[in-house]
Amino acid sequence: MKTQYGFILGSIQDFEAWIRDVKVGRTVVSIQQHHTYSPDYSSFNGSNQFELQKAMKDYHVVHNGWSDIGQHFTTFPDGSIITGRSMELSPAGIKGCNSASICIEHLGNFDAGKNEMTFQHQDIAVRLTAALCLKFGLPVSTKSILYHHWFNLATGERNNGTKNNKSCPGTAFFGGNKVQDCDDHFLPLVSQCLKEKLPQLSAVRPMKYVCVTADSLNVRERADGKSKKVSERSPVSSGSILRVWKEENGWYKISESSEHWVSGKFTRVVQRATVNADTLRARSGPSVSCSVVGAYLSGQELFIEEVENKWGRVSMDGKWVSMKYLDMN
Ligand SMILES: [Zn+2]
Repeated sequence: MKTQYGFILGSIQDFEAWIRDVKVGRTVVSIQQHHTYSPDYSSFNGSNQFELQKAMKDYHVVHNGWSDIGQHFTTFPDGSIITGRSMELSPAGIKGCNSASICIEHLGNFDAGKNEMTFQHQDIAVRLTAALCLKFGLPVSTKSILYHHWFNLATGERNNGTKNNKSCPGTAFFGGNKVQDCDDHFLPLVSQCLKEKLPQLSAVRPMKYVCVTADSLNVRERADGKSKKVSERSPVSSGSILRVWKEENGWYKISESSEHWVSGKFTRVVQRATVNADTLRARSGPSVSCSVVGAYLSGQELFIEEVENKWGRVSMDGKWVSMKYLDMN
């Protein structure tokens, strides 16, 4: 993965691992699909992802007066993906439904007769959406996977494309931009992708999960403080959850496939759990008398750092949840 202007660029394989590990405190209940319209395929030269993303950010900030680039991710015709706005912030994507959403912009104009989405581009649109469904425990449905076209531009009301709508993500996006088109052509691919992924994920399990306690923890090539830092991986920041695949002299191997090691001294073991209630209230302390400070959804993955009186403290969030509604893995 490469970094420039504060954006991270990589392949879908990079991002599947990145999304799995990134910490997101915000509740996410939907994933938005957009096309950029302009810039379109004619602007892409195979290596200018950073420049295109920077130009979109500048337009959003300077022209629109937004605090940051609108979208969390942009995908490209060659199958690459770049990050945008922080995952902790609501996007500026669809008026009326940004607050608990993730926004993906697919570079191009997918209205009929304009750009024809490449195979690689379709593939990452599906796989990125699947990875986000898995991360946030979202069902593959037209309630959680949303096209911009389904919302009234002025009021933000969902009307499924019947009045005052943009064509976004394009009248020819995966066979069309209607709800039925999404159900017929896009969602089956996302479901198929998840089916292929789930058995693999459950078959290979890490030894344990740890949470980083140092401000910044270097990733090294061997289980040794004197070994070289891994050049393609930036230090891990405080609060990140890491999967431990191997242990050696107090050092943890944190990649399944590569020799990426961190010192275990600067981590704390956490327990992985899955929410088994429809909506699980998060509270400010380990009791029903403490105030409600958020909620998690069924299937969502949490990491529990401490247990007190059958209440668990969610790693780094500092929020507490009743252990009754968690399946421990
Ligand atoms: Zn849009």
